[in-house]
Amino acid sequence: PDLFMPERTNSKGWDMRDTPDMTAIDTARGAFANHAWTADPLVADQTPDGAVHPVLNPARPDDHVGQVTWAGPETVAQAVEAASPWNAPAVVRAAVLTHAAHLYEENFGELFALLHREAGKSVMDAIAELREAVDFLRYYAARATDAPALGRFACISPWNFPLAIFTGQIAAALAAGNAVLAKPAEQTPLIAVRAAELMIEAGVPPTALQILPGDGVTGAALTSNPAIDGVAFTGSTETAQIIHKTMATHLNPGAPLIAETGGLNAMVVDSTALPEQAVQAIIESAFQSAGQRCSALRCLYVQEDIADGFIDMLKGAMDCLQIGDPWQTHCDVGPVIDEEARAGIQDYIDEAMAKGRVLHALPCPDNGHFVAPTLIKVNSIADLGKEVFGPALHVATFKSEELDAVIDAINGTGYGLTFGLQTRIDDRVQYVADRIEAGNIYVNRNQIGAIVGSQPFGGEGLSGTGPKAGGPLYLDRFRSHPVDQSEL
Ligand code: GLU
Repeated sequence: PDLFMPERTNSKGWDMRDTPDMTAIDTARGAFANHAWTADPLVADQTPDGAVHPVLNPARPDDHVGQVTWAGPETVAQAVEAASPWNAPAVVRAAVLTHAAHLYEENFGELFALLHREAGKSVMDAIAELREAVDFLRYYAARATDAPALGRFACISPWNFPLAIFTGQIAAALAAGNAVLAKPAEQTPLIAVRAAELMIEAGVPPTALQILPGDGVTGAALTSNPAIDGVAFTGSTETAQIIHKTMATHLNPGAPLIAETGGLNAMVVDSTALPEQAVQAIIESAFQSAGQRCSALRCLYVQEDIADGFIDMLKGAMDCLQIGDPWQTHCDVGPVIDEEARAGIQDYIDEAMAKGRVLHALPCPDNGHFVAPTLIKVNSIADLGKEVFGPALHVATFKSEELDAVIDAINGTGYGLTFGLQTRIDDRVQYVADRIEAGNIYVNRNQIGAIVGSQPFGGEGLSGTGPKAGGPLYLDRFRSHPVDQSEL
């Protein structure tokens, strides 16, 4: 068998250009337009001890999406104790996870409604996210083996991919035979609990999959519990560093941390680039998902010779973006996740505005947590300092002879997640790719939306530990010994 592609296919997904697909989406999600979900911790044999919190729609704060009960430290301790690794044969685990993929696809209406209403995802983003979640289930299922698992795995996932990354971490840990204790992001617990219910309906034993909604207190109770054998985390670099310290203090020294963190991602557009293609790639990379992807483009470098005309074109393309309610099919840019995020990004943009660095900004709705896509002038990526997790794109120019200095500046950030290059000089592609330190390098296309199985995703340096998610080596970190790939 092909080492990288055991038998499996990526989800067919839904096509926004296809009327029957869009009608099916409208009908299926319509049933959940006013639904209010209630989510409790999914824990084996006990009653949760935490407080109840409302969950609100980031695009329409008057839309009550549901409520969640958090898991307090006592619930976390009991769940860890009740956890029992999933020691069914690999073929059974693979069949159950594959069935879960099917249940996700069958329940697409409810999952789309949750993605729009709880996470502010546009239709395009919601389709891509559900596909990715299904792909993770099938991809890791195809790699399940009977090799020994580590034991109890803590999976801590972010709100920006509340279904795909939540599912990917869990599917990998379960495919390897671990027990999972998952803490979904504080902002997006409802879709997490619903997805876990589907995995349990598919046949995952409740002692092998427990869900612990909560904030950092819940997360800390989990990662400091000495019975935890490994942690998978996606989120900020700072939180990964805190988790690493907690693990060093409390866990067995061999317990792995698999962390996917932030990025200060750049794209270089040289004077030979095809402008229409580059502008489209920039718009998608910087503003799709309201810039709330760790892969998103943060700093664009345009060669000086073409900069004026090119930036005008980019501004024109920005003017065409539709910002608003993500339930609407025509929405390109939805809200950011919550008020704290909105205020932080807006303060950053206001400061740039006060310094006269804003080249272009769009109007946006004032009800809901919206931030307008904004273009900010900088001299170098070194001016960015920190990752701003929203639709703020920085732009710098460079002279042809400064390409090496640009590469050094990009590498100098210490991050290394995604990188984009737009050029029609073949030799330059290899030259730049050999020198840029980034996990995922994309040429003459956008730099977001890695596809499970074809584009394993993950960074280096401050951007993460590896191995890459959706790639052939990922599962090994969830096992006590690597598996000979040729056996798969
Ligand atoms: N895998 C996603 C992408 O390729 C990004 C994941 C993230 O933002 O954490 O766009």
